[in-house]
Amino acid sequence: MTSAPVAGAEARAGQLRDNLAAVHERIARGCAEAGRDPADVTLVVVTKYFPASDVLLLHHLGERHFGENRDQEAGEKFREVRQALSDAGEPDLTLHFIGQLQSNKAAHVAAYADVVESVDRAKLVTALAKGAHAADRRLRVLLQVSLDGDTSRGGVLPHDVEGLADAVAAQDRLDLRGVMAVAPLGADPDAAFTRLREVADGIRDRHPQADWISAGMSGDLEAGLRHGATHLRVGTAILGSRPSLL
Ligand SMILES: *Cc1c(COP(=O)(O)O)cnc(C)c1O
Repeated sequence: MTSAPVAGAEARAGQLRDNLAAVHERIARGCAEAGRDPADVTLVVVTKYFPASDVLLLHHLGERHFGENRDQEAGEKFREVRQALSDAGEPDLTLHFIGQLQSNKAAHVAAYADVVESVDRAKLVTALAKGAHAADRRLRVLLQVSLDGDTSRGGVLPHDVEGLADAVAAQDRLDLRGVMAVAPLGADPDAAFTRLREVADGIRDRHPQADWISAGMSGDLEAGLRHGATHLRVGTAILGSRPSLL
């Protein structure tokens, strides 16, 4: 079956094109229902567990923002992706790190990510700032907020957000841009994202440039749009299901 790889790549391209069109359609409809302008919403395509070839296909289809949640996988994959894009003369790409991050990996992430959406403690702030300085880069930062009082899956509690925001703002290599959250499992995403928006408003009072809200994934992007999401993080609806045991 010597033709299999090409046929496979064409099938994958078609699948990604159709899924992407369906997601953009959902975003358009969700924006219309929420009275919002789709131009104010950025789709971050979450490519974790999927290969560099999928990222390149999605880039070719016009996507520019990608999300990853594991340091080693993201670093290797996007080195390959950026090299291929730069060879093709199409280097425009923004990589969002969206996963729980240990501070000993922060310097590595600071060297290749453009946005870190999952900042949830002061130790991580200093580690990212140090890494950004060492790599001579700037990083855009979102504070991941825990909306159910449980920080075991990452996130800062709402009453600790203000102090953390000030810590990010005090770092000259870090640009505080806003907040991110995952709706708690089994909870009503509208209630969760309503709370997130209150937290976001509180931060923006002190830091006017922090006007991003990253909320909404494959299952609840419409709820995100209803509550002011500027960034949607969508994986499964575009790339298909991930292997469940990884
Ligand atoms: C994996 C992941 C997503 C994407 O979730 P889907 O349900 O596949 O769209 C979004 N946000 C975070 C933080 C993730 O880890």
